Amino acid sequence: MIDTNQLWDGVLAEMELSLSKANFSTWFRNTSIAKQEEGAVFVSVPNTFVRDWLINKYHKNILHILRNLDEGIRSIEYIISKIETREDKPKDLSFGKQVMTANLGLNELYINKESNLNPKYTLDSFVVGSFNEVAYAAALAVIKEPGTKYNPLFIYGGTGLGKTHLIQSVGNHFRNNTTKKNVFYITSETFASDLINSIINKKANLFKEKYRKYDVLVIDDIQFVSGKIKVQEELFHLFNSYYETGKQIIFSSDKSPKHISNLEERLRSRFEGGMIVDISKPDYESRLSIIKTKVKNNNYLVTDDVLEYIASIVQDSIRELEGAVNTIHCQAQAKNRHLNLQEVKSLLKNSIKPQKSVSIKDVMKIVSDFYSIEEKILYEKTRRKEVVKPRQIVMYLLREDFDTSYPYIGQKLGGRDHTTVMHAYEKIKRDILVDQLLAQEIEQIRGLLYNSV
Ligand code: ADP
Ligand code: MG
Repeated sequence: MIDTNQLWDGVLAEMELSLSKANFSTWFRNTSIAKQEEGAVFVSVPNTFVRDWLINKYHKNILHILRNLDEGIRSIEYIISKIETREDKPKDLSFGKQVMTANLGLNELYINKESNLNPKYTLDSFVVGSFNEVAYAAALAVIKEPGTKYNPLFIYGGTGLGKTHLIQSVGNHFRNNTTKKNVFYITSETFASDLINSIINKKANLFKEKYRKYDVLVIDDIQFVSGKIKVQEELFHLFNSYYETGKQIIFSSDKSPKHISNLEERLRSRFEGGMIVDISKPDYESRLSIIKTKVKNNNYLVTDDVLEYIASIVQDSIRELEGAVNTIHCQAQAKNRHLNLQEVKSLLKNSIKPQKSVSIKDVMKIVSDFYSIEEKILYEKTRRKEVVKPRQIVMYLLREDFDTSYPYIGQKLGGRDHTTVMHAYEKIKRDILVDQLLAQEIEQIRGLLYNSV
């Protein structure tokens, strides 16, 4: 029998592959197997919300994966426990465990408290190919002469292509080389909520002080400042203070500055004033080289023909490539042997789901499911609180993610006036800046919309 940690890591590896990052981390963070007894597995979860969600949405999958790993497993019990989470644990985790979870995406949790950087991202582990060589060269140029010619460094490209890895590696390099620079890494969303909180708590000065004190500031996913006027204003001044004192700023984004909508012109021109480079999709050779490196560094049980197969079918994202390799490795470990190509094919067929396109109807359905109301109430005139909020969220999503016109949204939602839709959109947009719970809910809904089944 494989041990409970390995068993659960196997489940995580497979679930990660079929879920969005946000969803995976929402539902599987801080879960583990508490004990295993006579065919029953007791899964420990942090709260009832997660328990209910796992039971309703993922129970079958989890059981299926567990049975694949250990035929003797009959049932799963979900228990709520205030466990010591991986997050809380001191750094002296056994190395083996750390490597294991590191590769399962959970090591987002092992971040350095001072710099907010994840030490797993290094330049050494960053594989360079034609798709990212310009970005890599720009990163090296910044390392050589920080705060001068290439300020800011602005790296953009699609999801899962290595932006975070590269910009964090530069941060880690600055911290660890002889100059020991004071580096800070943050996503633009956390930056925004930090700012809003500081304003609410009348601590705006502290906020300014905190962010101005570093030698190098790394801001990830800057596209999310779109439409946030106050955040953009603060960022503009912050940028100027770095620029004028010769301190380096590094940004990543999923789009080039030109394509970020609702961005103040003066900020756009700052972004464009340094070095802009993109990372494109990796070619086959690069994909193969990335997973070969990973397998070698981690002593994974995956053969070359399997790697070639994976590199040929998983084309769009390095994150997915890694996920596929993890799944194969976990299965191989459970079976204590290499998998053959046939087994790999059938395994990946089940876990790599075809992308589905999302319709307006899906938005209504998923939002009403999420808030446990009947979909048809969304169209009715009722102003009950428990209906108004989901309805506003539907309006917000249709506008924000689908660029649907206000009148059309109004029409779809039971013939409402376009100004009502406009207000709802503006309201949610404002509220998510200050209401973390709401922001999380919307993030989860998006995860369900774009990534589940
Ligand atoms: P992005 O920020 O662009 O969405 P990430 O930086 O999070 O992408 O990369 C996704 C995964 O792929 C990470 O686990 C990362 O370590 C890995 N990865 C990305 N690019 C490379 C590369 N060039 N070499 C090795 N691993 C990479
Ligand atoms: Mg990223």
